[in-house]
Amino acid sequence: MSIVENIKKYRELLPQGLTLVAVSKTKPVSDLMEAYEAGQRIFGENKIQEMTAKWEEMPKDIEWHMIGHIQRNKVKYMAPFVSLIHTVDSLKLLKEINKEAAKNDRTINCLLQVKIAKEESKFGLSLEDVTAFFTPETLKSFDHVKIIGLMGMATFTDDEAQIISEFKTLKNSFDALQKNHPYLTQLSIGMSGDYQLAIDQGSTMVRIGSSIFGARNYN
Ligand SMILES: *Cc1c(COP(=O)(O)O)cnc(C)c1O
Repeated sequence: MSIVENIKKYRELLPQGLTLVAVSKTKPVSDLMEAYEAGQRIFGENKIQEMTAKWEEMPKDIEWHMIGHIQRNKVKYMAPFVSLIHTVDSLKLLKEINKEAAKNDRTINCLLQVKIAKEESKFGLSLEDVTAFFTPETLKSFDHVKIIGLMGMATFTDDEAQIISEFKTLKNSFDALQKNHPYLTQLSIGMSGDYQLAIDQGSTMVRIGSSIFGARNYN
């Protein structure tokens, strides 16, 4: 199926109100433009330089989401335009985003990335670490960022029960936090292989790449 057909398919398939982030990392601007012509306006990238280059070249009504691991010295390049950062995994990083957002006279929306997978390779905060972001001091001192939810990646496995259990753990923490912090509205879980399980567990935002744009070639 073409990129256009895939975008249309997901628009019909996904529940109303659920956000589709089209993950376009490694793909050329011509591919992203096909999705754009089909109406897609939210794109996810995992490298700041690549995202910035695409932002410069493409229409300005696109919302750019950062979904990759972030080096603090590169935050400045995306601060003028990024619309949501999914991968905040330290207070130091949040502080840097806050500083660069202030320079640009913006408030940048962020999600905290929580490590729910068993794999060592996945980045993210532990569920205990997350509470440090919600102390009154932190919330007051970082006035150019807004934490609006949590993000997680399940273990890469065929074991659906494990994936469901990892998503459930995150959803339970999200619900518990939301009781005291009602501005937490976004739960970013679900990719090409597990988005249906994520939606069943309460996802509000799925990040889908290969089943829209085709397999990635890293060469
Ligand atoms: C690449 C990536 C995705 C999309 O993965 P697919 O399996 O191609 O849908 C989603 N989230 C993150 C954080 C990614 O790095």
